[in-house]
Amino acid sequence: MHHFDIVTIFPDMFPAVFNDSILKRGQEKKKIAIRIHDLRDYSQDPKRRSVDDRPFGGGPGMLLSAPPLFAAIQKIKGRRKARVIYTSPAGVPFDQKHAKRLTRHNNLIIICGRYEGIDERVKLKCVDEEISIGDYVLTGGEIPAMAIVDAVARLIPGVVGKEDSLKNESFEEDLLEGPHYTRPANFRGLKVPDVLLSGNHEAIKRWRREQAVAKTKKTRPDLLT
Ligand code: SAM
Repeated sequence: MHHFDIVTIFPDMFPAVFNDSILKRGQEKKKIAIRIHDLRDYSQDPKRRSVDDRPFGGGPGMLLSAPPLFAAIQKIKGRRKARVIYTSPAGVPFDQKHAKRLTRHNNLIIICGRYEGIDERVKLKCVDEEISIGDYVLTGGEIPAMAIVDAVARLIPGVVGKEDSLKNESFEEDLLEGPHYTRPANFRGLKVPDVLLSGNHEAIKRWRREQAVAKTKKTRPDLLT
């Protein structure tokens, strides 16, 4: 079983995403376990439950401070070996290769930043890798954590029902996926390409590959270089 532990100050953001569809079934089938941890439970100030503080040296905004993050990570890890990820726009861009690599770790702990981010000492001592989900700045690490869990979990055997569907996806062999059609074969005069109705599996395979190459050339030529 693969475990995903998420540390956040907004635990209520997660149930809608994780308790539905494929991720819900993955948990029911005991292929994955997802736990959400409220960072405020690790506050040094149990009354106010505060977890943030002003940055030394001045500047706008607040930072999630080191003590509650250290405590949360230590408690969640226990004696298990776990890989700790910090979601950050300053991290390494996340892609399908990262998602595949992360399936090799049975225990992932994901830290969701907020405000201006987290105290650097957490990165130095607790974090194994910083991951960005793209070159833009979000209000917090919750949506990145959801994206990472979703992308990794669906690659774990048994989570997606039809595993064949993973084989011809975008980014396999550095190609994007080409077009798909379903019934009706003729919709408002827009006809499905003849080859897809031909029953000739070799020709269909060839056509799909040509389409994938054309799509990649058009929208992501960088993948082909
Ligand atoms: N001051 C930070 C900077 O310039 O790098 C941005 C902080 S952002 C407002 C708050 C939190 O959202 C970050 O600590 C991080 O956890 C998360 N975040 C925002 N954009 C992200 C992205 N593109 N990828 C991953 N995490 C992101």
